[in-house]
Amino acid sequence: MADTIAAIATPLARGSIGIIRISGEKSKQIADKVFVSAKKRKISSLKGYTALYGDIVEKNGEKIDEAVVLNFNAPFSYTGEDVVEIQVHSGPYILKKVLDRVLSEGARAAEPGEFTKIAFMNGKLDLIEAESVMGLIGAENADQLKVSNAAKSGRVSRKTEEITDILLEVAASVSVYSDYPDEELEGVNREGFLKGLNRAKEKLDELVSSYEEGKLIREGVNTAIVGKPNVGKSTLMNLLVGSERSIVTDIPGTTRDIIEDRVSLDGIILNLSDTAGIRDTLDAVEKAGVKKAAEKLDTAQLILAVFDGSESLNGDDIRLIESLDEKNTVAVINKTDKGRKADLNALKNIRKVFVSAKNNEGIRELKECIKEVLNISEISENSAVLFSLRQKKDAENALASVNEAIKAIEDGMTIDAAGVLVDDAVYNLLRLTGKRVTDSVADEVFKRFCVGK
Ligand code: GDP
Repeated sequence: MADTIAAIATPLARGSIGIIRISGEKSKQIADKVFVSAKKRKISSLKGYTALYGDIVEKNGEKIDEAVVLNFNAPFSYTGEDVVEIQVHSGPYILKKVLDRVLSEGARAAEPGEFTKIAFMNGKLDLIEAESVMGLIGAENADQLKVSNAAKSGRVSRKTEEITDILLEVAASVSVYSDYPDEELEGVNREGFLKGLNRAKEKLDELVSSYEEGKLIREGVNTAIVGKPNVGKSTLMNLLVGSERSIVTDIPGTTRDIIEDRVSLDGIILNLSDTAGIRDTLDAVEKAGVKKAAEKLDTAQLILAVFDGSESLNGDDIRLIESLDEKNTVAVINKTDKGRKADLNALKNIRKVFVSAKNNEGIRELKECIKEVLNISEISENSAVLFSLRQKKDAENALASVNEAIKAIEDGMTIDAAGVLVDDAVYNLLRLTGKRVTDSVADEVFKRFCVGK
């Protein structure tokens, strides 16, 4: 018989309710030993999804705490096994005491993620869905919640299965072709194989690149605010962040080091760094700041290059413009409230937005422009986004095999050689959803969970 496991499922902290969860064949039996219902009813006699009120007691009958006990009968529970959840007052001492009591009646302390692992082994969710639980817990904004919910409800898994089905069809045709080389069956020829493989490739490409999009949603976009001193970088940053973070002064060069902040712009997280102005300087401290600013510029995924539109551009501005990459830059022409003097021809094709950071004007246009530069599509509950490195690796390996299979066929190699590569791609996709996964891969996934999940 498999172990019956137990753990504290809520934070070990003071609060209104804390939960101890038990899963396995002996859960009800154990619960009946530690819990006395007010109406003397037994948990083992309950229907699923019902609750009893009473006390958690020591072996000698001494009360530990009041409790509400919820009963879930297999297979209609999170793990698919019999599950009992004990709700008590949330306090570290009470929670530990109740857990100890449960363990003393024969349950084993659960490993991190073990409840979800059992759910996975019982087919309640696949590996992608299990991993999405982590995403749900970690969600910080609406988009993160949407992609995690989409994955949890099987959106990514279904897309993966669609690709697997296409490849299985190709694999089947390949074996027919090898077994009956003289038959002329529709689609069972090199062109037919290529058609299927290219369809799979297209969908796999999308899946693999969704990882980068997911990463931007999860981790945010590294954004550098650059520009020579006094153009209004700190003012702009404060406006975006919505608080007085950087020091705003009239003395050029006051933002000496890098000030970083995390803001959510309509769901996109920007990791903003307000850098020292890029300019020639003799001051050692400022020089260090300028050097760091240049490094930030190299690694930024988005650059907000700020210019004072009310004055002519000078040598420092021109040097900055020359170091910019138009692909990921927005030129923010600031101080529109003071009129325009700057000749903006030097900016060439770089996208421009006119703002007055001081008067909070043009910020909506700036946000729109940022979204355009980042090319982030609208996230919906249908978006299939890969969100772990493990998922990305499996999808990439599948894509590599599909690409090789296409090449093998185009180069006129034997069909059997292509068939092996198609099988390999299928294998990687089955690993991705966890349909064919080794224990060590599953363990690796679940050990990142917290105890009690
Ligand atoms: P930084 O050195 O680029 O960070 O520039 P700051 O944000 O410190 O701003 C320098 C000066 O320009 C401050 O006095 C700001 O109040 C002023 N400033 C910033 N934005 C605007 C704006 O849109 N219009 C006007 N008129 N002044 C601004």
